[in-house]
Amino acid sequence: MAQSLDGLRGSLRGDVLVEGDREYERARLCFNLLIDRRPEAIARCVDANDVVAALAFGQARGLEIAVRGGGHNPAGHCAVDDGLVIDLSRMRDVRVDPENGIATCQGGATWLDFDAATQAHGLVTPGGVVGSTGVTGLTLGGGIGHLTAQYGLTCDKVFAAELVTPVGEIVRVSEDQNPELLWGLRGGGGNFGVVTHADFRLHPLERVVGGRLEYEGEGVGQALRLFRDLSTDGPRELSIQAQLTTDESVAPKLLIVPCYTGGDEDPDALRPLRVVPGLVSDSVRRQGFLEQQRIFDPGYGVDRNYWKGHFVGELPDELIDDLLGCITALSRPPGGVLIESLHGGPKDVDSASAALGYRDAAFNVSAMASWTDPAHDEESMAWARETAAAIEPWSVSGGYANYMQADEPIDRVSAAFGPDAFARLQALKSRYDPNNVLRRNQNIPPAG
Ligand SMILES: Cc1cc2nc3c(=O)[nH]c(=O)nc-3n(C[C@H](O)[C@H](O)[C@H](O)COP(=O)(O)OP(=O)(O)OC[C@H]3O[C@@H](n4cnc5c(N)ncnc54)[C@H](O)[C@@H]3O)c2cc1C
Repeated sequence: MAQSLDGLRGSLRGDVLVEGDREYERARLCFNLLIDRRPEAIARCVDANDVVAALAFGQARGLEIAVRGGGHNPAGHCAVDDGLVIDLSRMRDVRVDPENGIATCQGGATWLDFDAATQAHGLVTPGGVVGSTGVTGLTLGGGIGHLTAQYGLTCDKVFAAELVTPVGEIVRVSEDQNPELLWGLRGGGGNFGVVTHADFRLHPLERVVGGRLEYEGEGVGQALRLFRDLSTDGPRELSIQAQLTTDESVAPKLLIVPCYTGGDEDPDALRPLRVVPGLVSDSVRRQGFLEQQRIFDPGYGVDRNYWKGHFVGELPDELIDDLLGCITALSRPPGGVLIESLHGGPKDVDSASAALGYRDAAFNVSAMASWTDPAHDEESMAWARETAAAIEPWSVSGGYANYMQADEPIDRVSAAFGPDAFARLQALKSRYDPNNVLRRNQNIPPAG
């Protein structure tokens, strides 16, 4: 292998890391410490030709191939034992054309890279809420964040891209060129090729009214119901997410994160949430968009994670009560339940423009177990599964591919699209990756 790796090194402008290299240990890890894999080689590509060479090398040597953007997928699909990782972390350029309101982003850029480049011109696209998440990885699954109600899903903003397919073709995708593939990229994940760059539409925005509202005690349930009502009837200028957790004594706590982009300094819609009993901290104020983007920033790769959830059509009182029960079901803090509202923007877009099937859902509700002690692995995963089972009766379109673990059955992956869209995605897979080389993802197998 050492000799053949020299061949790979010789054909790349980027570099190749193997066991023993100083940066190998950091580069092999992903966000989720539950995943601990040792690839044979990590090819850190710098351009499309490097990606062509790495894909050819991996297939010629019969290595399993993983693609790494920001390394955030909780399933750990970006890491593979004894295989080849195509690592895009050296492809992070973001170029902004402010006159036309367009950003062109390389396949390994993170939201920190993207927001820094676009905010320099007072522009945004609706993206993820944690800076170290990969832009392309998130976009390929849809993309929900602080500006979803205002501007829609992240994938709705992609209008062109370049991919390297496993057979080594460099394919340009736009509304005129390969439009079926553009449709598939909007939700279909990394199944069809390695995206080397993508073009996003931007909107002018510099400041928002946002921050954290934190609740404890009896007020938690009431605040969660207000959050639900606000998400259902609230203004289009308000995106909002809630995170149910516990304190160390396993008493429920609630974090609500609004992001309002209208003109009011003290938006009417938020007032009920700011006076409800149990509010213990309120940092909502007018602030720069980049400050809003730091609200959820966690440490990277510090805990073990297992996530499972459902898109739901409503958030009835019964489900809220069940979630309050689930959050205190363990004798230690289990992690959290994230509730993302999908009101507003996602509904404006023609559902035929994207492969994903959850646009009409009201909320994405996800049990996110996180823990540090390996002795808690089984118990924590069981907690996430049981909490997801409590959500399931209200499920309308499967789970969110971006939050799925690797053990989800194919039925859950296909339910995220619906049968017709899944069949179209399988046809695309047959066309661009007939041997399922790119299978370390929420996999869409080729037709037949
Ligand atoms: C802390 C944290 C915060 C998150 N916040 C949000 C959020 O706010 N909103 C949201 O919608 N999701 C969020 N996610 C989920 C996230 O969008 C997905 O996990 C996504 O897959 C991460 O992409 P990545 O590039 O960082 O991950 P990676 O693990 O590197 O990549 C995941 C998969 O995406 C594919 N992929 C990535 N880049 C490319 C590329 N250039 N070409 C082809 N395929 C590619 C590959 O199949 C790869 O296996 C979050 C996840 C974490 C851990």
